[in-house]
Amino acid sequence: MLPFEHQFATLPEPLWAACQPTPVSHPTLIAFNERLAETLGMKEKPDDATLTQWFSGNQLPPGAEPRALGYAGHQFGNFVPQLGDGRALLLGEVVDQRGVRRDVQLKGSGRTPFSRGGDGRSPLGPVLREYLVSEFMAAVGVPTTRALAAVATGERVVRQLPEPGAVFTRVASSHIRVGTFQFAAVRRVEQALKALADHVIARHYPEAASAEDPYLALLEAVAARQATLVAKWMSLGFIHGVMNTDNCSIAGETIDYGPCAFMEQFDPQKVFSSIDQGRRYAFDNQPTIAQWNLARFAETLLPLMREDGDAVVEQATDIIRRFEPLFDAEQRRLHADKLGLTADSDQAVPLMKGLESHMHQGRMDMTATFDALTHYAETLSEQHKEALLALTTEPRELAAWLATWQVEQAASQNSERLATMRRANPVIIPRNHRVQEVIDAAYEGDFAPFHTLLAVVTQPYDESEEARRLAAPATENEQVLRTFCGT
Ligand code: AMP
Ligand code: MG
Repeated sequence: MLPFEHQFATLPEPLWAACQPTPVSHPTLIAFNERLAETLGMKEKPDDATLTQWFSGNQLPPGAEPRALGYAGHQFGNFVPQLGDGRALLLGEVVDQRGVRRDVQLKGSGRTPFSRGGDGRSPLGPVLREYLVSEFMAAVGVPTTRALAAVATGERVVRQLPEPGAVFTRVASSHIRVGTFQFAAVRRVEQALKALADHVIARHYPEAASAEDPYLALLEAVAARQATLVAKWMSLGFIHGVMNTDNCSIAGETIDYGPCAFMEQFDPQKVFSSIDQGRRYAFDNQPTIAQWNLARFAETLLPLMREDGDAVVEQATDIIRRFEPLFDAEQRRLHADKLGLTADSDQAVPLMKGLESHMHQGRMDMTATFDALTHYAETLSEQHKEALLALTTEPRELAAWLATWQVEQAASQNSERLATMRRANPVIIPRNHRVQEVIDAAYEGDFAPFHTLLAVVTQPYDESEEARRLAAPATENEQVLRTFCGT
């Protein structure tokens, strides 16, 4: 049983619409995240048949009141005034064991008033991808929405070809996006906008309430969370793929794992998404886009701010500008962690720049490089040095870098720093070809590879043989070059 509450529903109605899920014919439970359910206060796990009914949308869990939320958004830079939950329903909120209010949402549960031309459904592939990647992100400490359940519907959804359908149950600190604010702002209902902003302050940023201008303080707090988030993504080679304003969470979590992917060979301009023709959401463009999204957020808040006219625009612009130093500071800290240096080391940035250039030139796999560097830092053995140098096509250049790094690293080495370095450098990431392999098997009815990969990516520092096997970079033929939104 989940103790549902419905605070979002106290906001004015254009922000949401009541809507029931559409039942499916033959639901079967693929996965249920018991540990997450426990943190949400589920004391006794219901039997699988009940879980299947609840998380397919065939029968609502007690206390659930499904609602589709409205939002707008800039998609690839173009404003769309009405998007909204076209295939998702908020069941309600649950206050978790730490006292944090969290949304529980079905995704793929049928049409809603916001469906536009869509069928309201999700194919199985993107559901499995989101499950794996979001649970990995949680395991390495990246703020993210979580996976509570996945249920196969037994029905087909038609995309390019017919595919099996599934319903995903997502848990988020909230599903409020920059696009939610744009939705309220574009309708020019100031009362709805203010209610939304006050809800967000009370829920996510209570300290902003006592600021001189709470809405400026809100902007500043959201900017800080986005800076931290994007810096963390990049420290793992993560490319979100669709950083539209409707996929930019106000709580600062990673949300909407569509065409996302982890970079393997290091390339700062890497793009995976098949729909990102303009390279808008390339790896190294992500901070600029986060800042652009924050500017769109700021625009929605202007009418609420205390001062009028130029003064307030100036103040808001200042906060948006400060995103850059915030991001840089966060990135510098993460660089230091990944390289095993002290947080205040002035060598973190130049050393990382150097290593990035070696990874790029030497066609090195990013995750394998940092894993090998961590092993070398831990042992300083010739064997681990060789293992690292074997990853590049230009070992002599890398050896020279390694000597410089070693001088800086040795000065600060201790067991705590090594532990921090290991935490910053997971052994395994959900590699694109592995995720694809799991999806292919599932389409043949075999979910065992999904469960194996899930177990391994949620223990991302584990060095078991199975982990090592699944951690290996893709060979030339296995490489995934393009990802698809899968909607
Ligand atoms: P996404 O690409 O998942 O971020 O979705 C972008 C917008 O398209 C959101 O408003 C979604 O609700 C909507 N959407 C995506 N897929 C579907 C679908 N199968 N049926 C209805 N709406 C959808
Ligand atoms: Mg979205």
